[in-house]
Amino acid sequence: MSKKNTILPSTASQPSGLPFTVKYWGTRGSIPSPGPDTVGYGGNTTCVEVRCGDQLFVIDGGTGVRLLGELLNANGPTKVTFLMSHLHMDHVMGFPFFAPFLRPGFQIELWSALHHGHSIKDTLGQLFAQPTFPVTMAMLQADLGFHVLQAGDTLKFGDVVVKTTILRHPGDAIAYRLEYAGRAFCHCTDWEHPAHTELDKGLVDLLRDTDVASIDATYTDDEYEGRVGPSRRGWGHGTFAAALRHTDAARVKRTILTHHDPRRTDAELDGIARTLLAGRPDVRIVKEGDSFDVARIDEGSNALTAPKRV
Ligand SMILES: [Zn+2]
Ligand SMILES: [Zn+2]
Repeated sequence: MSKKNTILPSTASQPSGLPFTVKYWGTRGSIPSPGPDTVGYGGNTTCVEVRCGDQLFVIDGGTGVRLLGELLNANGPTKVTFLMSHLHMDHVMGFPFFAPFLRPGFQIELWSALHHGHSIKDTLGQLFAQPTFPVTMAMLQADLGFHVLQAGDTLKFGDVVVKTTILRHPGDAIAYRLEYAGRAFCHCTDWEHPAHTELDKGLVDLLRDTDVASIDATYTDDEYEGRVGPSRRGWGHGTFAAALRHTDAARVKRTILTHHDPRRTDAELDGIARTLLAGRPDVRIVKEGDSFDVARIDEGSNALTAPKRV
């Protein structure tokens, strides 16, 4: 649909060097779901931190971004680049409580495709506005940069290359592939793939030979097809089976299943891990707080089931 081009932001080249790490600050889809039945996998909505050497990228600003912001306020770094999958509420609702927005000295760059014709700048303007929030855009102290991308664009940030593709979702969404130091990480939500159809070729191409990839696995097949509750066709989210079908076809080394349904309990996710994922140590249903070192994913036989906490 959109023309492919290459955008070279005016970021100065930064020294390369490991690590290449990913941390999940929010793993829930649709709406926060705190409570005793969800505390194990977490109730915060989507927010993923990716560190490539000394560069910090954050995919989406769900409610998980609040705690990340507190960490950055205390320890830095003071430059943050957000890559927005799209602008639905669960992916932006943490921004009003992302403390670095209120701190002078922070440089915050935000990249998004247009979603229903709107940019992340438009959406922040709606979030930081009375009467629903007392802080307005004019009160923000950080140095903000806004950038519009198109699905298919390739971005270059110093020695990090970021590739993109379109995802089937209401209003579309963007999947990201970050390449650094010879490794690759992909993040692919929100995404629907109707069962029993051909593979989503664009997504498989983006995922190909990725070291670690997180992908939307909101529903079971029975839920998606309406054998349990209403049919979820057209709701814009994937199934566990469709996710694995695509990451397997793309020879992804480690698959992270995410964007958990807000009603999904810890017990249900544990059950799915025991049954659907039996014999698949390369696949993990992600828990809030999990982190992985993409550069060292081959070390140890159990790198996914015993993630390093940072
Ligand atoms: Zn979502
Ligand atoms: Zn969405």
